[in-house]
Amino acid sequence: MCVFCKIVKGELPAKVVYEDDLVMAFHDINPQAPVHILVIPKEHIPTVNDLEERHKELIGHIFLVIKRIAKELGIDESGYRVLVNCNRDGGQEIYHIHFHLLGGKPLGPMVC
Ligand code: 5GP
Repeated sequence: MCVFCKIVKGELPAKVVYEDDLVMAFHDINPQAPVHILVIPKEHIPTVNDLEERHKELIGHIFLVIKRIAKELGIDESGYRVLVNCNRDGGQEIYHIHFHLLGGKPLGPMVC
């Protein structure tokens, strides 16, 4: 079972900031910004490449959850970045799709 599935099942600890039937959001273990939250679907979807038509509503829901967390953490007005890595060249480490919510400081331009 993947690391994030273990977090969903409560088998690994995480600092959870939001949870509902479909998604979970928790602090990244190695934050890259003052606010670094990972938002994941509870369903094990490995990468963006594995998304299907049936996931359309889920992905929309995830963005509404991101918006809600950003407001709760007080970074909605200052701004934030939402990032999804896919596969090796995208820098994906955990193969359970996740949305990085980064903020709390000026993040500057994207660097590749
Ligand atoms: P990726 O590179 O796959 O887009 O990002 C994976 C992220 O998951 C990294 O930012 C990493 O710090 C985070 N991460 C890896 N293992 C754990 C864990 O066990 N708990 C939490 N909260 N974050 C993790």
